[in-house]
Amino acid sequence: MKPADRVEALKRDLIEPHQTIFDAALKPSMGQLKDASIAKYIDIVDAKIPLIRTISAEFPSALTESCEVFGKTFPDMNWRWNAYLMPSLYTFDGMSSEIDSQSVMLFGADALADEYKSLSGTDFKTFLTHEVFHIYHHQILPDEFDEYMGSMRVYKPLYLCLWTEGLACYVSQVINPKASLAEVVLSKELAETAPKSATGIAKEFGTAFASTTSNDHARFFSAGYKGALPARSGYYLGLIVVQHLSEKHPLKELVRLSGRELEEEIRNALREISTSGDAIKTL
Ligand SMILES: [Zn+2]
Repeated sequence: MKPADRVEALKRDLIEPHQTIFDAALKPSMGQLKDASIAKYIDIVDAKIPLIRTISAEFPSALTESCEVFGKTFPDMNWRWNAYLMPSLYTFDGMSSEIDSQSVMLFGADALADEYKSLSGTDFKTFLTHEVFHIYHHQILPDEFDEYMGSMRVYKPLYLCLWTEGLACYVSQVINPKASLAEVVLSKELAETAPKSATGIAKEFGTAFASTTSNDHARFFSAGYKGALPARSGYYLGLIVVQHLSEKHPLKELVRLSGRELEEEIRNALREISTSGDAIKTL
């Protein structure tokens, strides 16, 4: 089959029959999904099909097991949401979104096959707990914590993203106590670089605290960010902020902090972290 025909076949046989799901996953980039990038994707993914099939076969039981463990810590979790394992065209590994106003979790089988050798390791369990927590956080505080808004390129104030990502990392650490820092913050590189510059990250974050610009969001949360700070430094800083607040709030209370109280608590924790290196607790 010619490359152009393969692109057409992928659009016709894969995307169009599942348009609603692809829209929920790729809405911001859907219009920009050029034939050239689809052709490139087909080229790369061809050789990886056997691995993707293995990962796909392991996925249902890995998700079920993680959800069961999560439910022991958060028994009020509402499990009425669907999860989809799909080709992400390498645009995401896991994300929460909405279809017909219902929460859904979307997983990119292609990206997962690239990132994980098997789905039975602590690294994948930690990642799943992180993603499931976002659904739970949205369930208990729907107005403030909606990861879907980020995927729509509509950004909440930066400190709310810091909090939800920090909590997702923290909860995944609590539920998977053997996980390493790299597994908890979902990046080996971040785990190596961020602890050395936590004070600087906290200071920088303080100056952009309630920003809603896409640039500031990318600066602290995007994997592709290149600049003075480590990429995705907000995940690490968020984890440290949550650790600070966990000293005075039990978990059940911690995950329900919101509004002005939460804003004040985050400001205070950032002040402590940026003025006293001693206040930083590494894992
Ligand atoms: Zn997250």
